[in-house]
Amino acid sequence: MATPPNVSQRDFDRALSEFESAVGADWVFKDDESVVLYRDAYSPFKGEEEERVASAAVAPNSVEQVQQVVRTANEYRIPIYPISTGKNLGYGGSAPNLSGSVVLDLKRMNRILDVSERQASALVEPGVSYFDLYRHIQERGLKLWIDCPDPGWGSVIGNALDHGGGYTLTQLRNHFDAHCGMEVVLPDGDLLRTGMGAMPGAESWQQYKFGVGPWIDGLFSQSNFGVVTKMGFWLIPEPDAYLTGTVVVPKHDDLIALVDILNYLENTGVVNGMPQLGSPLIGGFFSQPDPELQALLSRGAPTAEIEDYAREVGRGYWSCTVKFYGAEKAIAANWEYAQEKFSAITGATFEDGESFKFPLTFEQIEDITRQQSVGSRSSTLPEFGIPSLTMFSIGARSETNPTPTQGHVWFSPIIPRTGEAIMEANRVFAEAAGELGLPVRAAGFSLPTTYWNRSFIYLFGFPISNDIEQNRKMRESFERLVRVAAEHGWGEYRTAPAFQDLVLDTYSFNDNALRRFQERLKDAVDPNGILSAGRYGIWPKHLRDA
Ligand SMILES: Cc1cc2nc3c(=O)[nH]c(=O)nc-3n(C[C@H](O)[C@H](O)[C@H](O)COP(=O)(O)OP(=O)(O)OC[C@H]3O[C@@H](n4cnc5c(N)ncnc54)[C@H](O)[C@@H]3O)c2cc1C
Repeated sequence: MATPPNVSQRDFDRALSEFESAVGADWVFKDDESVVLYRDAYSPFKGEEEERVASAAVAPNSVEQVQQVVRTANEYRIPIYPISTGKNLGYGGSAPNLSGSVVLDLKRMNRILDVSERQASALVEPGVSYFDLYRHIQERGLKLWIDCPDPGWGSVIGNALDHGGGYTLTQLRNHFDAHCGMEVVLPDGDLLRTGMGAMPGAESWQQYKFGVGPWIDGLFSQSNFGVVTKMGFWLIPEPDAYLTGTVVVPKHDDLIALVDILNYLENTGVVNGMPQLGSPLIGGFFSQPDPELQALLSRGAPTAEIEDYAREVGRGYWSCTVKFYGAEKAIAANWEYAQEKFSAITGATFEDGESFKFPLTFEQIEDITRQQSVGSRSSTLPEFGIPSLTMFSIGARSETNPTPTQGHVWFSPIIPRTGEAIMEANRVFAEAAGELGLPVRAAGFSLPTTYWNRSFIYLFGFPISNDIEQNRKMRESFERLVRVAAEHGWGEYRTAPAFQDLVLDTYSFNDNALRRFQERLKDAVDPNGILSAGRYGIWPKHLRDA
C-alpha cells in the first residue's frame, strides 16, 4: 500500500485506526484489492509511475463522521480527497491529484432529503446519483424532471461541483448554476451552510441562492476549500409538450448569421431546449463526407466551388436544430417565430422535427433508447430528463469497432458564441492537429457543443490506450493544444488532474493573480493543506515548491 507523502507509517496507521473508530472498520479500505477500485480507469498515466493513486479510502455515512475524518486528517496531516460517486470519467475518475491521498468516498451518504413538487427543487447528499433522484421522483409520481448528463450513474453534487452540464432547459443545463444552497464541512471540521441555509428556521434554502453578503458557493466548485455534504437543486416542472425543428442554410458564411439568430432566440427565451449545430453537406461526427466532396475538401477547393457542389447535390451547408419545451400551442408559435427570424438568411429552408406530449409512454422511451444507442436520432433520453448509460454503447466494442479505445480525456475549450469563432477554431485546431500528426476528420470541420447559451464548448475526446508510449504522445499533443488554445483566448472549462496545473497556468492575467488569490484562500482555510491538494492547480503551501 502507498503511504501519503511526508507522513510516517506510524502516523498513517494511527490515522486509519481513528478513521475506523469514526466510520466503522468495514468502511475503511486499505487492502490493494479495494484501493485499486479508486484508480482512474481513463488515466492518461495508465501503468506509469506518475499515475495518481490513492493510499486508502474512507466512507463516512453522516456529516458528523465527515467532520471526524477531517479532524483526524488535520491531526496527522493526512491528505484526503472527497468524491461523491467518483464517476468523473474523462476528467479524472475517482483518483486524487496527489498520489497517496486517502479518498473520502461519500457514496454512502445517498439520502434524498427533500423533493418539493410545489417549489420544483431537491435537497440531496453527495452519494445521490441521477438514477436515484429520477427513481425517487418516478416512484412518487411527482410531475418533475431532472436535468442529467449523458451517464446517469454520476452524482448530482459531484457533477455540479465539477461544472458539468445536461440537456434540457437553457437555465438548468449548467448544473452549478442550477444549484441553490450548500452545506459544507470546512477543512478544520467546522460546518457551514450557504445562502438562506445560514439562517436558522428559514424555509427558503432551495429558493434563494444568495442570503446576504458575498456569495461563496463558487469557492467550493473545482476547488479544495471544503467537503460539500448537502446541496439544493432546482428541478423542472414536467412540461406539456416538446417540439423540434431544423433550419438549413446554403452558404459557408451563413454560419455567422445562423449563430447570431440562434443566440437571439435563446437569449430571449424563445428557444429553451439545447440546440444542435450540424452540416448536412459534411455530415455528422460518425459519418464521412462522400468521396467527391472529400476530394474537394482535401485539395482545399475554394468555398464557392464547395457551395456549388452543395447546391448540385441539394444539401445545405449548415443546419441548426432548435428544441422547445412548453405548452403545445406556445411552442408551435415559437417555432413559427424562429422560422421568421432565420428567414433573414437567404435560401434558408425549414423542416419540422420530432414532437412529443408528456409524459412519454414506455414504448416511446424504449424507442428513443434504441435510436440513441445507434446514434441515429436527434432527441436523446437526457433531453427528457431520463438518466441512462446508453452513451457508453457508442464507441463500444462491436463488429465494426473491434478495438475500442481504453477511454479518453476530454479536451474542452470554451470559445465565443459566434460563427467567426467556430471558423477560427477549426482553422487553428486543424493546423495544430496537422503539426502534431493527429488524425483529423477527412472533412476537417468540427462544430461545438451548445450546453451553455452564452458560449460554445468544443469537446474532443483524446483516446487512452494500454500503450505507455502512445499515452505519452497523447499527453504531449493535449498539452500543446491547451497552449495553442490559450494563445487565442480559449480556455479549458474543466480538465483531468493530469492537466489542471497547466490549465490554471493559462489563466494568467496580471502575473497569475487568480492563482495567487486562490493560494491565499487555501492557506487561510486549510493551513495544513489536507484537502484535495492540487485540485485545479491549487496546492497548499508545503507542496507548492515541489
Ligand atoms: C461517455 C461520457 C459522457 C459524458 N457525458 C457527460 C455529460 O453529458 N455531462 C457532464 O457534465 N459530464 C459528462 N461526462 C463526464 C462525467 O462522467 C460526469 O460529469 C460525471 O457525472 C462526473 O462524475 P461524478 O458525478 O461521480 O462526480 P465525482 O467524481 O464524484 O466528482 C467530481 C469531482 O468533484 C469533486 N467533488 C465531488 N464531490 C465532492 C464533494 N462532496 N465535496 C467536495 N468536492 C467534491 C472531486 O474533486 C471529484 O473528483 C461524461 C463522461 C463520459 C465518459
